[in-house]
Order: sequence, then structure tokens, then C-alpha cells
Amino acid sequence: MPHRAELTVPALRAWMAERGFPRYRATQVLAWVYRRGVSDFAAMSDLARELREALAAAFVISRLTPSVVTRSADGTRKLLFQLDAGAAIESVLIPDPPRLTLCISSQAGCGMGCAFCATARLGLLRNLSANEIVGQVVAAQAELQPGERISNIVFMGMGEPLANYDAVVEAIEILTAEWGIGLSSRRITVSTVGLVPAMARLVRDTAVQLAVSLSATTDAQRQRLMPVNRRFPLEALLTMCRALPIPQRRRITFEYVMLGGVNDTVEDADRLVRLLHGIRAKVNLIPFNAFPGGGFAPASDAAIRRFQERLLAGGVHASVRQSRGQDIQAACGQLALAHGGVRHETAKRQADRSHRAASVP
Ligand code: SAH
Repeated sequence: MPHRAELTVPALRAWMAERGFPRYRATQVLAWVYRRGVSDFAAMSDLARELREALAAAFVISRLTPSVVTRSADGTRKLLFQLDAGAAIESVLIPDPPRLTLCISSQAGCGMGCAFCATARLGLLRNLSANEIVGQVVAAQAELQPGERISNIVFMGMGEPLANYDAVVEAIEILTAEWGIGLSSRRITVSTVGLVPAMARLVRDTAVQLAVSLSATTDAQRQRLMPVNRRFPLEALLTMCRALPIPQRRRITFEYVMLGGVNDTVEDADRLVRLLHGIRAKVNLIPFNAFPGGGFAPASDAAIRRFQERLLAGGVHASVRQSRGQDIQAACGQLALAHGGVRHETAKRQADRSHRAASVP
């Protein structure tokens, strides 16, 4: 059999167009693949047999199957996918009735280097394809119990979505399409460390919700925690946020990881109020989830409460994210801890880090 290509939306559309088929033929195939989860062309009963056979000769439909599904005491489920040698990714299903949120990965590992995040310790292994991104959703749907339905999708798993822009936007098309997963773009959130030009593009190209991981209120402090701040400092980031054409009834979410004694003071809260002035913002305070070798301590509950009250008093919407799935290392910033191929690497990087840390006066 000649080489068969992986079925992707652009490849299928091009294939149909070359053969003079109307555009809806491609849509019909895509509906089988994504809406009905069929992975065999022979099952696509509304297509002529010759067309099914030609498609089967040209394309393979790839699927993701989780190698491990772990269940937390709080109902959170973590799916681990072994993609290929070395590259593993995770997705997390988080029930929060009436919502059921799926947190998906956009890269294997991550190149952003945030000091408080376990995934950063892996470095960037590789970008995911649009199929691998959507594949996590299709695979998670197969894990649902009767009556459950994924209501929200957040790009808050492994990786920096805006560093894998094209695949993420292609995936968003599939997630929102009628022939695809059929979710409203209002129910999809893309979270970024703040890659400024790509944020502007995303708001132009899609209608998804934007979340920005801020986690600090001065450049000096943010630079230490998030190296990306050297490329896109606070001023550039927040100026862009002010200029984004966000629809009237929406807000940009700013995530803020609460690190004990680092960024959790009343002064930080007051600076944050000033920084967000003029932006339709809501702040989501994330209690720090510790991991071995993480090197930070969580802020105390009292500090988090004080911080939140200060934001509210300053007129800024602020909520505290409830940590979920910590017992199975599925919480924010904990992804990447559990897999074998990676443990060795993590240990090595941690050793390197503590070495570096030890040599800093
Ligand atoms: N790269 C994107 C998408 C990942 S989202 C981004 O950074 O926005 C992951 C969220 O979890 C981010 O807001 C990040 O700041 C937060 N996070 C990372 N490590 C964490 C940890 N150890 N505890 C709590 N939150 C963490």
C-alpha cells in the first residue's frame, strides 16, 4: 500500500478540492471523525463506497489512547498519553458541577522556564499537532460517565499554547466547529505567559477567552519567576491588554500563583490594582502547588485572603482557584511529575538547578 498521510483538516480539504468534490464532503468526513469518533472510513455510511475506499487508501485517522488514567479522591481524572519516545503529555478532567472542565496540553514539556512550574523542568520536548491537541478531548470524552459532558476546555496543561500558535488555532477551529466538538468559543480559555504579539493575533483570529499568567507586580520580580518577562516586560504586556478589542461583556483573566514570602504581600496586591487599571480584568489567585525540588513555599491561607480582599477593595474582580487533583499530581504546575522517561531528566535538571541556586550569593 502506498504511504498514507495522517488525516488533517487542511489535507482533507485539499484532497477533496483536487478531486472536484464540493466542500461539504470534507465536512461530512470530519463530522464522522470528530463528532462521532469514528476512526475507520468504512463506517462512514453516507459516503459512496468508492470515495470511502479512496480516502482509506490516502489517509490514516490517528487516535490518542491514554496509557494511564488516574483518579483523584475529589473526582479529578488525569489522562497520561505516551506520544512517542520521550514525549508524554497529560490532560486533566475536572468536575465542578454543573461544569466539567478539561485541561489540555499544547506542547510536550515547555520552553518558558517559569521557576515555579514542574513542566518547565522538562524543557520543550516538542510541539503537539492540532490532532494531538483535539485527540486529548476525544480520548477524554471516551472516559466520561453516563450523563457527563465536557462543558469547558482550558489550555492550561503542559506547554505554552501561543508558542505553538498554528496548531492551537487549528485545534480551536475543530473544537468550536459544528462538525467538530461543537463547543462555544466562550467556553474555551487559552492561557499564556504573555507572548504579546501572539496574544493580539489570537484575539483577531478566534473568539476564545484569554488568560494571562502574571504572578508578579514588578519587572524585577517577574523576571526572576518568569524569564519571558525579559522579552515582554509588564509595560508591554499590559499596554497590549489595554488595547485588545475584548468584547464588552468579557474580561481578561490574570492568573497569579501565590508564592509565600515572594509575591503575596499587601504591597503586591496594591501594585496589582494599579497595574490592572483600565483593563476589564479578573484575577484568579492560584495557591502554589508544591512539587519536589520546587524551591517555593505556598502562601498562607491568611495571606491569600488578605490579598484577595485588597484586590476587591481596589475594585478588581478576584477569586481564589480551588486546587484540584493534588493527590494525583494533576494540579496546576504539577504536570510532568509522574512519568518514567521524564523522571530521570527532571531529577537531573533539579540537580542542576539546586547547584546553580547554591552558587548564587
Ligand atoms: N503556559 C501557559 C499555560 C499553562 S497554564 C501559562 O503559563 O499560562 C498553567 C497555570 O498554572 C499558569 O497560570 C501557571 O502560572 C500556573 N502554575 C504553574 N506552576 C504552578 C504551581 N506549581 N502551582 C500553582 N500554579 C502553577
